[in-house]
Amino acid sequence: MPDLDDAVSAFRESFGGEVIAPSDAGYDQARSVWNGDIDRRPALIVRPSGAPAVAQAITFARGEGLEVSVRGGGHSYAGHGVCDGGLMIDLSRLDEIAVDAPARRVRCGGGTTWGQLDAATQEHSLAVTGGFISTTGVGGLTLGGGMGWLTARAGLSCDNLVSAEIVTADGRTVTASQDDNPELFWALRGGGGNFGIVTTFEFALHDVPQLTQLGMFFWDVEHGREGLRFSRDLVRSLPDDMGSLIAGLSAPEAPFVPAEYQGKPGFAVLVAGWGTPEEHAAAVAPVQRMTSPPQWQLITPVPYVQLQQMFNEDSPWGVYNYEKALYLDELSDEAIDIFVDQLPRKTSPLSFVPVFPLSGAFSRTDDQATAFGGSRNGAWVFNISATCSTPELLDKDREWVRDFWKALRPQAASSGGYVNFLTEADQDRVRISYGPEKYDQLARIKAAWDPENVFHRNANIRPAAGTPAAATPSSELA
Ligand SMILES: Cc1cc2nc3c(=O)[nH]c(=O)nc-3n(C[C@H](O)[C@H](O)[C@H](O)COP(=O)(O)OP(=O)(O)OC[C@H]3O[C@@H](n4cnc5c(N)ncnc54)[C@H](O)[C@@H]3O)c2cc1C
Repeated sequence: MPDLDDAVSAFRESFGGEVIAPSDAGYDQARSVWNGDIDRRPALIVRPSGAPAVAQAITFARGEGLEVSVRGGGHSYAGHGVCDGGLMIDLSRLDEIAVDAPARRVRCGGGTTWGQLDAATQEHSLAVTGGFISTTGVGGLTLGGGMGWLTARAGLSCDNLVSAEIVTADGRTVTASQDDNPELFWALRGGGGNFGIVTTFEFALHDVPQLTQLGMFFWDVEHGREGLRFSRDLVRSLPDDMGSLIAGLSAPEAPFVPAEYQGKPGFAVLVAGWGTPEEHAAAVAPVQRMTSPPQWQLITPVPYVQLQQMFNEDSPWGVYNYEKALYLDELSDEAIDIFVDQLPRKTSPLSFVPVFPLSGAFSRTDDQATAFGGSRNGAWVFNISATCSTPELLDKDREWVRDFWKALRPQAASSGGYVNFLTEADQDRVRISYGPEKYDQLARIKAAWDPENVFHRNANIRPAAGTPAAATPSSELA
């Protein structure tokens, strides 16, 4: 491609950041994403150093007719951050963080990871809801929703977004907030990476003490039904300022797990609290009175920053992954029976099934206040994840995920799911996930800000036909 080569040479001279071509050292590392099952070769990779360079990159791609992919933390299950033959815009250099502790606000670059953000905010005993794994990007996770230990206490990550600086498809840099471009701001909170490249996120922060009290209780498959029914009721009884997670998994090979259970599949409930050890003990006291007590348990204080990293090793960079998810209104006895039947059929020790409770502050946010694609009535996100060290294991566990999902599907109101958990983000699934009303509203906003669908490597919202482009925004910065 001599023409592109010439254009790349000229672009290199003027670009405000790093440019990596296929012949450059580091290309293979730069194009890799978290899911090792994704193997794509962009024509060019750029790492902009600020919003002007992001605009330069978008303009260059459009001028050369290159497809655009945007990489934040690189953790999209579908590998949305990397494309074949196009321009991969890698935001990892945009990782500046500024905490304003008295105002309880933080501003961070669009390529920041949760590990970086947690470390900075926890210095002030503050935090905002992030995911359960600290290597994920703030960008993708927030734009699609964002759930983790603090969901009941503080809502979704996107519920805490105060403003965003965003570079749009036509290269403008604008601010989105309640006051500036409010429709765009609404769309950014749940509508994913459809509307432009966010170069700075501003979040509201919450008081989160540096020490968490953590309880982890595990039942083997034989006692799984009792354990899961109990876990469901326990989670629903917890105060909103506590966090929790239910999971089907293989017990870790860790010193706190008795040897006979290490590596064996089973079910766990994890309960995190930020009060005193006594308050935590009172909240989990029903476990100790069970007729079918857990096979093992761990109750320990753990720094919040470490809590955010405790699953990192089980989901390392480069694992082969496939997953499917559903929203369940209830974790019914029938759903639990399916869970107990299906979990032991997995092959890979790393494959697991996290079930995220959605309640508390999450449910107190009005359904229409953000574009988040899921009901605020309180539900469970049931995520079936094949996580494998080899492609051969993935071939087996991909089928396991599909069979499990098919068995569980009748328990869900629809086949839609949390958009950040869609490995296969086809149009119908995306529309069902948002529901027709929200999808149509998002499609109108998409048409105003990205009428040619430049940003389509995501859970894609297609621009609605016949919508006028956005007027020059009041807050345009450049
Ligand atoms: C191991 C693992 C654990 C996870 N745990 C959780 C969890 O606990 N809670 C949860 O809610 N989700 C979780 N997720 C899902 C996660 O939210 C999504 O995978 C999300 O897309 C990851 O964001 P990223 O920036 O790392 O991804 P990337 O692959 O870099 O980006 C995905 C897409 O997001 C968009 N994007 C990213 N950054 C920007 C930006 N700055 N501006 C515009 N668009 C952008 C782009 O469209 C991009 O293609 C997990 C995923 C994995 C792989």
